[in-house]
Amino acid sequence: MGKFAELVPERVRALASYVPGKRIQQAEAESGVKMIKLGSNENPFGPSPLALNAIKAAAGGIHIYPDNETVTLRERLAVHHGVMFEQVIVTAGANNLLDILARTLLAPGFNAVTSERSYILYPIVTRSAGAELRQVPMRDDGYDLDAICDAIDSDTRLVFIANPNNPTGSIVTAQEMDRFLDRLPENVVVALDEAYFEYADWLARERGVDYSHSVDYVRQERNVVVLRSFSKAYGLAALRVGYGLGPAELINFLARLKTPFVVSSLGEAGAMAALDDREHYERSMRSNAAQLATVSRHLRELGFAPVESWGNFVYFDTGEDATALDRRLQSHGILVRPLNGSWGARTAIRVTIGSPQENQSFLEALRDVTRGAIAG
Ligand SMILES: *Cc1c(COP(=O)(O)O)cnc(C)c1O
Repeated sequence: MGKFAELVPERVRALASYVPGKRIQQAEAESGVKMIKLGSNENPFGPSPLALNAIKAAAGGIHIYPDNETVTLRERLAVHHGVMFEQVIVTAGANNLLDILARTLLAPGFNAVTSERSYILYPIVTRSAGAELRQVPMRDDGYDLDAICDAIDSDTRLVFIANPNNPTGSIVTAQEMDRFLDRLPENVVVALDEAYFEYADWLARERGVDYSHSVDYVRQERNVVVLRSFSKAYGLAALRVGYGLGPAELINFLARLKTPFVVSSLGEAGAMAALDDREHYERSMRSNAAQLATVSRHLRELGFAPVESWGNFVYFDTGEDATALDRRLQSHGILVRPLNGSWGARTAIRVTIGSPQENQSFLEALRDVTRGAIAG
Protein backbone atom coordinates (compact mmCIF):
# COMPACT_ATOMS: atom_id res chain seq x y z
CA MET A 1 0.00 0.00 0.00
CA GLY A 2 1.31 3.47 -0.86
CA LYS A 3 1.41 6.25 1.68
CA PHE A 4 -1.78 7.87 0.43
CA ALA A 5 -3.95 4.84 1.11
CA GLU A 6 -3.98 5.81 4.78
CA LEU A 7 -5.20 9.28 3.90
CA VAL A 8 -8.02 8.14 1.66
CA PRO A 9 -11.26 7.03 3.37
CA GLU A 10 -12.32 3.39 3.08
CA ARG A 11 -15.37 4.20 0.94
CA VAL A 12 -13.07 5.64 -1.73
CA ARG A 13 -10.45 2.89 -1.47
CA ALA A 14 -13.18 0.30 -1.95
CA LEU A 15 -14.52 1.93 -5.14
CA ALA A 16 -14.18 0.23 -8.50
CA SER A 17 -13.09 2.57 -11.27
CA TYR A 18 -15.56 3.33 -14.03
CA VAL A 19 -14.31 1.41 -17.07
CA PRO A 20 -15.28 3.24 -20.26
CA GLY A 21 -15.56 1.58 -23.66
CA LYS A 22 -12.16 1.17 -25.27
CA ARG A 23 -10.97 4.18 -27.26
CA ILE A 24 -10.58 3.77 -31.02
CA GLN A 25 -6.91 4.85 -30.93
CA GLN A 26 -6.04 2.27 -28.29
CA ALA A 27 -7.87 -0.54 -30.07
CA GLU A 28 -6.20 0.35 -33.39
CA ALA A 29 -2.77 0.40 -31.75
CA GLU A 30 -3.46 -3.05 -30.25
CA SER A 31 -4.90 -4.68 -33.34
CA GLY A 32 -3.19 -2.83 -36.18
CA VAL A 33 -6.47 -2.52 -38.12
CA LYS A 34 -8.91 0.32 -38.59
CA MET A 35 -11.73 0.23 -36.04
CA ILE A 36 -15.47 0.69 -36.14
CA LYS A 37 -16.55 1.75 -32.66
CA LEU A 38 -19.81 0.15 -31.57
CA GLY A 39 -18.98 0.11 -27.89
CA SER A 40 -20.41 3.28 -26.34
CA ASN A 41 -23.79 3.91 -27.97
CA GLU A 42 -22.71 7.06 -29.76
CA ASN A 43 -24.66 8.46 -32.72
CA PRO A 44 -23.16 7.06 -35.97
CA PHE A 45 -24.28 10.18 -37.86
CA GLY A 46 -22.10 12.43 -35.73
CA PRO A 47 -23.20 15.75 -34.26
CA SER A 48 -25.93 17.86 -35.80
CA PRO A 49 -24.47 20.33 -38.31
CA LEU A 50 -26.47 23.09 -36.61
CA ALA A 51 -24.81 22.24 -33.30
CA LEU A 52 -21.37 22.30 -34.93
CA ASN A 53 -22.01 25.74 -36.38
CA ALA A 54 -23.26 27.05 -33.05
CA ILE A 55 -20.18 25.72 -31.27
CA LYS A 56 -17.89 27.36 -33.84
CA ALA A 57 -19.77 30.64 -33.46
CA ALA A 58 -19.45 30.46 -29.65
CA ALA A 59 -15.76 29.53 -29.71
CA GLY A 60 -14.56 33.13 -29.89
CA GLY A 61 -16.10 33.80 -26.49
CA ILE A 62 -14.46 31.06 -24.43
CA HIS A 63 -12.28 33.49 -22.49
CA ILE A 64 -15.50 34.51 -20.67
CA TYR A 65 -16.88 32.18 -17.94
CA PRO A 66 -20.07 30.43 -19.02
CA ASP A 67 -23.46 31.22 -17.48
CA ASN A 68 -23.39 29.24 -14.23
CA GLU A 69 -27.20 29.06 -14.25
CA THR A 70 -27.39 27.99 -17.93
CA VAL A 71 -30.50 30.19 -18.13
CA THR A 72 -30.90 30.09 -21.90
CA LEU A 73 -30.89 26.31 -22.13
CA ARG A 74 -33.02 25.84 -19.00
CA GLU A 75 -35.66 28.24 -20.33
CA ARG A 76 -35.63 26.39 -23.62
CA LEU A 77 -35.97 22.98 -21.93
CA ALA A 78 -38.74 24.25 -19.64
CA VAL A 79 -40.77 25.35 -22.68
CA HIS A 80 -39.87 22.20 -24.62
CA HIS A 81 -41.17 19.97 -21.81
CA GLY A 82 -43.94 22.18 -20.45
CA VAL A 83 -42.43 22.42 -16.96
CA MET A 84 -41.30 25.37 -14.82
CA PHE A 85 -37.85 26.88 -15.19
CA GLU A 86 -37.22 26.00 -11.51
CA GLN A 87 -37.83 22.33 -12.31
CA VAL A 88 -34.84 22.11 -14.68
CA ILE A 89 -31.16 21.55 -13.87
CA VAL A 90 -28.43 21.34 -16.53
CA THR A 91 -25.29 19.35 -15.74
CA ALA A 92 -22.12 18.03 -17.38
CA GLY A 93 -23.91 15.01 -18.83
CA ALA A 94 -26.45 12.82 -17.08
CA ASN A 95 -23.54 11.10 -15.33
CA ASN A 96 -22.77 14.30 -13.46
CA LEU A 97 -26.39 14.50 -12.31
CA LEU A 98 -26.37 10.88 -11.10
CA ASP A 99 -23.41 11.77 -8.90
CA ILE A 100 -25.10 14.95 -7.65
CA LEU A 101 -28.28 13.01 -6.82
CA ALA A 102 -26.28 10.47 -4.82
CA ARG A 103 -24.33 13.12 -2.92
CA THR A 104 -27.50 15.11 -2.21
CA LEU A 105 -29.68 12.28 -0.95
CA LEU A 106 -27.29 9.61 0.32
CA ALA A 107 -24.84 9.33 3.21
CA PRO A 108 -23.47 6.51 5.38
CA GLY A 109 -26.40 4.61 6.89
CA PHE A 110 -28.67 5.15 3.88
CA ASN A 111 -29.12 2.95 0.84
CA ALA A 112 -30.10 3.10 -2.82
CA VAL A 113 -31.86 0.35 -4.76
CA THR A 114 -31.52 -0.68 -8.40
CA SER A 115 -31.41 -3.80 -10.54
CA GLU A 116 -28.45 -6.04 -11.27
CA ARG A 117 -27.15 -5.78 -14.86
CA SER A 118 -27.97 -2.12 -15.00
CA TYR A 119 -25.87 0.97 -15.56
CA ILE A 120 -22.39 0.60 -14.03
CA LEU A 121 -22.29 4.11 -12.65
CA TYR A 122 -25.04 3.48 -10.05
CA PRO A 123 -22.77 1.46 -7.73
CA ILE A 124 -19.98 3.99 -8.08
CA VAL A 125 -21.99 7.13 -7.25
CA THR A 126 -23.82 5.36 -4.39
CA ARG A 127 -20.68 4.03 -2.74
CA SER A 128 -18.77 7.26 -3.24
CA ALA A 129 -21.51 8.92 -1.17
CA GLY A 130 -20.79 6.33 1.54
CA ALA A 131 -24.11 4.52 1.08
CA GLU A 132 -25.05 0.92 0.29
CA LEU A 133 -26.43 -0.15 -3.12
CA ARG A 134 -28.98 -2.97 -3.22
CA GLN A 135 -29.11 -4.67 -6.62
CA VAL A 136 -32.10 -6.96 -7.03
CA PRO A 137 -32.22 -9.82 -9.58
CA MET A 138 -33.72 -9.20 -13.02
CA ARG A 139 -36.85 -10.72 -14.47
CA ASP A 140 -36.57 -11.68 -18.17
CA ASP A 141 -33.54 -9.42 -18.72
CA GLY A 142 -35.48 -6.39 -17.44
CA TYR A 143 -36.25 -4.57 -14.21
CA ASP A 144 -38.28 -6.47 -11.63
CA LEU A 145 -40.17 -3.59 -10.02
CA ASP A 146 -41.80 -5.83 -7.39
CA ALA A 147 -38.36 -6.98 -6.21
CA ILE A 148 -37.24 -3.34 -6.10
CA CYS A 149 -40.25 -2.44 -3.93
CA ASP A 150 -39.43 -5.31 -1.59
CA ALA A 151 -35.81 -4.15 -1.22
CA ILE A 152 -36.82 -0.64 -0.14
CA ASP A 153 -36.81 0.17 3.59
CA SER A 154 -36.95 3.30 5.75
CA ASP A 155 -33.24 4.01 5.04
CA THR A 156 -33.71 3.98 1.27
CA ARG A 157 -33.43 7.41 -0.31
CA LEU A 158 -32.84 6.70 -4.01
CA VAL A 159 -34.00 4.21 -6.60
CA PHE A 160 -32.14 4.15 -9.91
CA ILE A 161 -34.17 3.03 -12.92
CA ALA A 162 -32.57 3.09 -16.36
CA ASN A 163 -35.42 3.20 -18.87
CA PRO A 164 -34.49 1.82 -21.36
CA ASN A 165 -32.00 -0.21 -19.38
CA ASN A 166 -28.35 -0.09 -20.30
CA PRO A 167 -27.09 -2.76 -21.12
CA THR A 168 -30.11 -5.03 -21.74
CA GLY A 169 -32.20 -2.51 -23.72
CA SER A 170 -35.43 -3.45 -21.91
CA ILE A 171 -38.06 -0.91 -20.87
CA VAL A 172 -40.50 -0.37 -18.06
CA THR A 173 -43.78 0.73 -19.70
CA ALA A 174 -45.68 3.85 -18.65
CA GLN A 175 -48.38 1.79 -16.91
CA GLU A 176 -45.82 -0.31 -15.02
CA MET A 177 -44.06 2.85 -13.89
CA ASP A 178 -47.36 4.44 -12.76
CA ARG A 179 -48.18 1.43 -10.60
CA PHE A 180 -44.64 1.31 -9.22
CA LEU A 181 -44.66 4.99 -8.21
CA ASP A 182 -48.03 4.61 -6.51
CA ARG A 183 -46.53 1.92 -4.28
CA LEU A 184 -43.42 3.89 -3.30
CA PRO A 185 -43.01 5.27 0.23
CA GLU A 186 -42.44 9.04 0.59
CA ASN A 187 -38.83 8.63 1.81
CA VAL A 188 -37.68 7.58 -1.66
CA VAL A 189 -36.74 9.59 -4.76
CA VAL A 190 -36.66 7.82 -8.12
CA ALA A 191 -33.81 8.72 -10.47
CA LEU A 192 -35.52 7.93 -13.76
CA ASP A 193 -32.59 7.66 -16.13
CA GLU A 194 -33.91 8.23 -19.65
CA ALA A 195 -30.56 8.69 -21.42
CA TYR A 196 -32.06 6.84 -24.43
CA PHE A 197 -35.50 8.48 -24.24
CA GLU A 198 -35.53 9.68 -27.85
CA TYR A 199 -34.79 6.24 -29.28
CA ALA A 200 -37.29 4.48 -27.03
CA ASP A 201 -39.98 7.06 -27.72
CA TRP A 202 -39.54 6.61 -31.48
CA LEU A 203 -39.53 2.80 -31.30
CA ALA A 204 -42.51 2.74 -28.94
CA ARG A 205 -44.58 4.83 -31.38
CA GLU A 206 -43.69 2.40 -34.16
CA ARG A 207 -44.54 -0.60 -32.00
CA GLY A 208 -47.69 0.91 -30.54
CA VAL A 209 -46.46 0.78 -26.95
CA ASP A 210 -46.99 3.42 -24.24
CA TYR A 211 -43.38 3.91 -23.15
CA SER A 212 -43.09 6.88 -20.80
CA HIS A 213 -44.91 9.92 -19.56
CA SER A 214 -42.18 10.76 -17.09
CA VAL A 215 -42.54 14.52 -17.54
CA ASP A 216 -46.11 14.27 -16.15
CA TYR A 217 -44.59 13.07 -12.86
CA VAL A 218 -42.48 16.22 -12.81
CA ARG A 219 -45.50 18.45 -13.46
CA GLN A 220 -47.21 16.69 -10.54
CA GLU A 221 -44.12 17.28 -8.34
CA ARG A 222 -43.85 13.53 -7.64
CA ASN A 223 -40.67 12.14 -6.00
CA VAL A 224 -39.02 11.68 -9.38
CA VAL A 225 -36.04 13.23 -11.14
CA VAL A 226 -36.02 12.51 -14.88
CA LEU A 227 -32.53 12.42 -16.42
CA ARG A 228 -31.90 13.14 -20.09
CA SER A 229 -28.72 13.42 -22.14
CA PHE A 230 -27.39 15.17 -25.22
CA SER A 231 -24.76 12.43 -25.59
CA LYS A 232 -26.79 9.76 -27.33
CA ALA A 233 -29.54 10.76 -29.78
CA TYR A 234 -28.18 14.29 -30.18
CA GLY A 235 -24.64 13.12 -30.94
CA LEU A 236 -22.85 15.42 -28.49
CA ALA A 237 -21.13 12.89 -26.20
CA ALA A 238 -17.84 14.77 -25.93
CA LEU A 239 -19.56 18.07 -25.21
CA ARG A 240 -20.86 16.81 -21.82
CA VAL A 241 -24.38 18.15 -21.51
CA GLY A 242 -27.32 16.49 -19.78
CA TYR A 243 -30.20 17.65 -17.65
CA GLY A 244 -32.72 16.73 -15.03
CA LEU A 245 -36.39 17.57 -14.52
CA GLY A 246 -37.78 17.29 -11.01
CA PRO A 247 -39.59 18.96 -8.11
CA ALA A 248 -38.44 22.60 -7.81
CA GLU A 249 -37.45 22.25 -4.15
CA LEU A 250 -35.29 19.20 -4.81
CA ILE A 251 -33.74 20.73 -7.95
CA ASN A 252 -32.71 23.68 -5.80
CA PHE A 253 -30.88 21.34 -3.39
CA LEU A 254 -29.21 19.50 -6.27
CA ALA A 255 -27.96 22.80 -7.70
CA ARG A 256 -26.01 23.44 -4.48
CA LEU A 257 -23.76 20.46 -5.20
CA LYS A 258 -23.10 21.43 -8.79
CA THR A 259 -19.49 22.40 -9.47
CA PRO A 260 -19.53 26.07 -10.53
CA PHE A 261 -19.40 26.57 -14.32
CA VAL A 262 -19.45 22.81 -14.95
CA VAL A 263 -21.42 23.26 -18.20
CA SER A 264 -19.35 25.14 -20.76
CA SER A 265 -20.62 27.89 -23.04
CA LEU A 266 -19.84 25.62 -26.00
CA GLY A 267 -21.95 22.91 -24.41
CA GLU A 268 -24.90 25.21 -23.86
CA ALA A 269 -24.68 26.62 -27.41
CA GLY A 270 -24.36 23.18 -28.98
CA ALA A 271 -27.27 21.73 -27.03
CA MET A 272 -29.53 24.68 -27.91
CA ALA A 273 -28.81 24.23 -31.61
CA ALA A 274 -29.18 20.44 -31.47
CA LEU A 275 -32.73 20.88 -30.17
CA ASP A 276 -33.52 22.89 -33.32
CA ASP A 277 -32.23 20.26 -35.73
CA ARG A 278 -35.30 18.14 -36.50
CA GLU A 279 -33.70 16.81 -39.67
CA HIS A 280 -30.66 15.31 -37.91
CA TYR A 281 -32.89 13.96 -35.16
CA GLU A 282 -35.38 12.26 -37.44
CA ARG A 283 -32.70 10.83 -39.69
CA SER A 284 -30.94 9.36 -36.65
CA MET A 285 -34.13 7.90 -35.16
CA ARG A 286 -35.42 6.50 -38.45
CA SER A 287 -32.13 4.83 -39.31
CA ASN A 288 -31.79 3.38 -35.82
CA ALA A 289 -35.24 1.83 -35.92
CA ALA A 290 -34.64 0.21 -39.31
CA GLN A 291 -31.11 -0.93 -38.50
CA LEU A 292 -32.05 -2.27 -35.08
CA ALA A 293 -34.60 -4.53 -36.77
CA THR A 294 -32.05 -5.66 -39.37
CA VAL A 295 -29.25 -6.36 -36.90
CA SER A 296 -31.60 -8.21 -34.53
CA ARG A 297 -32.89 -10.38 -37.36
CA HIS A 298 -29.37 -11.27 -38.52
CA LEU A 299 -28.33 -12.07 -34.96
CA ARG A 300 -31.26 -14.47 -34.66
CA GLU A 301 -30.30 -16.06 -37.98
CA LEU A 302 -26.80 -16.59 -36.59
CA GLY A 303 -28.33 -18.46 -33.66
CA PHE A 304 -28.23 -15.73 -31.02
CA ALA A 305 -31.20 -14.51 -28.99
CA PRO A 306 -30.89 -10.72 -28.68
CA VAL A 307 -33.10 -9.09 -26.04
CA GLU A 308 -35.75 -6.83 -27.61
CA SER A 309 -34.13 -3.41 -27.54
CA TRP A 310 -35.69 0.02 -27.11
CA GLY A 311 -32.42 1.91 -27.55
CA ASN A 312 -29.59 2.28 -30.07
CA PHE A 313 -27.87 -0.93 -29.00
CA VAL A 314 -28.55 -4.65 -28.64
CA TYR A 315 -27.65 -7.05 -25.86
CA PHE A 316 -27.15 -10.74 -26.39
CA ASP A 317 -25.58 -13.74 -24.77
CA THR A 318 -22.65 -15.10 -26.77
CA GLY A 319 -22.48 -18.50 -25.08
CA GLU A 320 -18.81 -18.00 -24.30
CA ASP A 321 -16.50 -15.70 -22.35
CA ALA A 322 -17.36 -12.27 -23.77
CA THR A 323 -13.79 -11.02 -23.43
CA ALA A 324 -12.54 -13.71 -25.78
CA LEU A 325 -15.17 -12.92 -28.40
CA ASP A 326 -14.48 -9.22 -27.98
CA ARG A 327 -10.81 -9.82 -28.69
CA ARG A 328 -11.58 -11.73 -31.89
CA LEU A 329 -14.01 -9.03 -33.05
CA GLN A 330 -11.40 -6.39 -32.34
CA SER A 331 -8.90 -8.18 -34.55
CA HIS A 332 -11.55 -7.84 -37.29
CA GLY A 333 -11.82 -4.11 -36.66
CA ILE A 334 -14.99 -4.12 -34.55
CA LEU A 335 -15.18 -2.62 -31.09
CA VAL A 336 -18.15 -3.79 -28.96
CA ARG A 337 -18.80 -3.77 -25.22
CA PRO A 338 -18.13 -7.05 -23.43
CA LEU A 339 -20.28 -7.09 -20.29
CA ASN A 340 -18.10 -8.99 -17.87
CA GLY A 341 -16.64 -7.19 -14.86
CA SER A 342 -18.86 -4.55 -13.26
CA TRP A 343 -21.66 -5.17 -15.75
CA GLY A 344 -22.20 -8.61 -14.28
CA ALA A 345 -22.85 -10.53 -17.50
CA ARG A 346 -19.76 -12.63 -18.21
CA THR A 347 -20.93 -14.10 -21.50
CA ALA A 348 -22.91 -11.17 -22.93
CA ILE A 349 -22.00 -8.29 -25.19
CA ARG A 350 -23.69 -5.02 -26.06
CA VAL A 351 -23.29 -3.63 -29.53
CA THR A 352 -24.28 -0.16 -30.70
CA ILE A 353 -26.48 0.19 -33.77
CA GLY A 354 -24.20 2.03 -36.19
CA SER A 355 -24.66 3.19 -39.76
CA PRO A 356 -25.91 0.56 -42.24
CA GLN A 357 -22.33 0.04 -43.45
CA GLU A 358 -20.93 -0.32 -39.93
CA ASN A 359 -23.62 -2.81 -38.94
CA GLN A 360 -22.93 -4.91 -42.01
CA SER A 361 -19.23 -4.98 -41.11
CA PHE A 362 -20.10 -6.01 -37.57
CA LEU A 363 -22.34 -8.85 -38.74
CA GLU A 364 -19.72 -10.10 -41.18
CA ALA A 365 -17.04 -10.04 -38.49
CA LEU A 366 -19.32 -11.80 -36.02
CA ARG A 367 -20.10 -14.46 -38.60
CA ASP A 368 -16.37 -14.95 -39.20
CA VAL A 369 -15.34 -15.16 -35.55
CA THR A 370 -18.19 -17.43 -34.43
CA ARG A 371 -18.33 -19.70 -37.47
CA GLY A 372 -19.30 -23.17 -36.35
CA ALA A 373 -19.25 -22.13 -32.70
CA ILE A 374 -23.00 -21.63 -32.34
CA ALA A 375 -25.21 -24.64 -31.92
CA GLY A 376 -27.97 -25.06 -34.53
C1 LIG B 1 -24.86 7.03 -21.57
C2 LIG B 1 -25.66 6.95 -20.32
C3 LIG B 1 -25.67 7.99 -19.39
C4 LIG B 1 -24.69 9.12 -19.43
O1 LIG B 1 -24.89 10.10 -20.28
P1 LIG B 1 -24.00 11.42 -20.29
O2 LIG B 1 -25.03 12.46 -20.51
O3 LIG B 1 -23.03 11.26 -21.41
O4 LIG B 1 -23.32 11.57 -18.97
C5 LIG B 1 -26.50 7.88 -18.29
N1 LIG B 1 -27.26 6.81 -18.10
C6 LIG B 1 -27.26 5.79 -18.95
C7 LIG B 1 -28.13 4.61 -18.68
C8 LIG B 1 -26.44 5.82 -20.08
O5 LIG B 1 -26.38 4.77 -20.89
